[in-house]
Amino acid sequence: MDKRNGKKMGLVKKILKKNRELRRLNQALTKSNKRLKKLILKDFHTGLYNRRYLEDAIARELSYSRRHAVPFSVIMMDIDYFKSINDAYGHQFGDIILKHLAKRIREMVRRHDTVIRFGGEEFIIVAPKTDRATGTMLAKRILQDINSNNFGNKKHTIKLKVSMAVASYPEDGIVVEGMDLIYLADQILRRVKEYGGNRVYSHLNMGKYIDDEESGKVTDVRFLKKKVERLAKRANQCVVEAIFAFAKTIGLKDRYTARHSESIVTYSEEIANELGLSKKNIDLVRKAAMLHDLGKAGIAEEILRKKAKLSIDEYATIKNHPKIGADIIKPVKFLHDIVPLLLHHHERWDGKGYPNGLKGEEIPIGARIIAITDVYKSLVSNRPYRKAYSKDEAIKLIEKGAGTQYDPDIVGIFLKIIKKEKKSQEKK
Ligand code: GH3
Ligand code: MG
Ligand code: MG
Repeated sequence: MDKRNGKKMGLVKKILKKNRELRRLNQALTKSNKRLKKLILKDFHTGLYNRRYLEDAIARELSYSRRHAVPFSVIMMDIDYFKSINDAYGHQFGDIILKHLAKRIREMVRRHDTVIRFGGEEFIIVAPKTDRATGTMLAKRILQDINSNNFGNKKHTIKLKVSMAVASYPEDGIVVEGMDLIYLADQILRRVKEYGGNRVYSHLNMGKYIDDEESGKVTDVRFLKKKVERLAKRANQCVVEAIFAFAKTIGLKDRYTARHSESIVTYSEEIANELGLSKKNIDLVRKAAMLHDLGKAGIAEEILRKKAKLSIDEYATIKNHPKIGADIIKPVKFLHDIVPLLLHHHERWDGKGYPNGLKGEEIPIGARIIAITDVYKSLVSNRPYRKAYSKDEAIKLIEKGAGTQYDPDIVGIFLKIIKKEKKSQEKK
């Protein structure tokens, strides 16, 4: 009897042990299932929820809103000119930007908001209990934060522009299912892009136009022309931005170039204004000033950074940069008019400059302007081979070159601008 009992006990113990093991296994399975489910719904790169999660999240929100008669909003955002960022700095850097931005958005939203990576560089925030006004406010706050932040790594940082659209239930009209709100947000976002991006729009900014556009009733030619103009402008902006982003990468090779360009742009624009050039020409001067040293991208770093005196050959290489710059932008049709400005910004008034030895008024006026602002800015900056001159010394050197190196009239105007600037600085 005892023996049999003992056997039974042993069996029960074994069964219990097996059961315990099974339970443990089951728990582990549930846990890993949960983890798997989470993984499937998360974007690996940014740690945000992904597109798969969106539909559920939004259906849940809609049903909650209906039951409790409270509003909710979605905010859709898309980085402007992200392709240019990839082009200028590489795809890997683009990835870093996305991660950095995702983190920033997550820090900016409220506790109950959900952030989703909707696509490559598109994000959606699902904001419960949020009406259009509140959603717009939140979006504007995020945009402001993004605009004032720097994104990137130790090597480079960049500024980001982002287009944002707010769509709200129930204010924005009939919504049958949650995804309708996403379609609406997408339409609004397209409108934001058309108007140049980097702003927040809601249904309020769509006006009558959306209906007309959707039903194809647009007959007003002026209206269409305007739209085409807007789109063309945007396409142009895109290229300028890409080239400018590229121009900034020259900063890598030639550290002073990137910052260097900024004040050259301002001074050149002021001179062009004083000279009474047309609006179109002022714009050309501004673009050319921005891109005047683009050609340095094609010159070896060792030469650009050399501390010792350049050899004749090295100097000849540097002298190629106006030509290289002009060649780079030649294929961009709408920049054709600035090609001569880039090409000739190292010509001299007395004809002893390069690359073509043009003389006096043969040199395009924009190039004559940039010749002066460029040299001035160089003189007052530290260079690998010398220290910066003081502003007064630089002014004297430019004055000395009036009539030989530079157009004397433009020197006169430039000195007036510099003196005015000095006076206003002294006042402060
Ligand atoms: P727009 O102002 O019209 O938004 O212009 P965009 O250049 O941002 O163009 P668009 O939104 O059409 O294209 C997005 C680009 O983002 C396309 C692709 O090169 C890039 N991209 C998408 N996903 C990733 C990603 O995961 N990593 C990186 N580095 N780039 C991505
Ligand atoms: Mg996109
Ligand atoms: Mg984009």
